[in-house]
Amino acid sequence: MRNQLCVCGSQRWFSRCCEPFLKGAKSAPTPEKLVRSRYSAYALGGHGEYLLKTWFAPMAKGLSAEDLSQLHQQWLGLVVLGSGVSGNDGWVEFKASYRDNNDVVEMHEKSVFTRFANSWFYIGGEVAHINTAK
Ligand SMILES: [Zn+2]
Repeated sequence: MRNQLCVCGSQRWFSRCCEPFLKGAKSAPTPEKLVRSRYSAYALGGHGEYLLKTWFAPMAKGLSAEDLSQLHQQWLGLVVLGSGVSGNDGWVEFKASYRDNNDVVEMHEKSVFTRFANSWFYIGGEVAHINTAK
């Protein structure tokens, strides 16, 4: 993945974007960067541990790193529409699209986050799935 553009759509090198977070070298400093790195974890597959680690634990009951590491969908792209931070609360609104057989499904989510011990954690979000085109 050296000298590859990051799959999160930031137009930055993977090694300088989401990779340090996925590798655990540092934790995402903002909710937006956490969303990007979690999207990259889903899009690349094999990063279930990271997804679990960045999930607010009470909300992640019943999830397993093995299952989260599976590539359930072919992810096509991420667009961050907005984000904000107020104290230890954060939110990010984004669209992510994936291929489902011959359809392209666009997922529109507004996620909320909490900061604890200088790390951001994903709590959950309101999701709408819009089936766009064949
Ligand atoms: Zn990235």
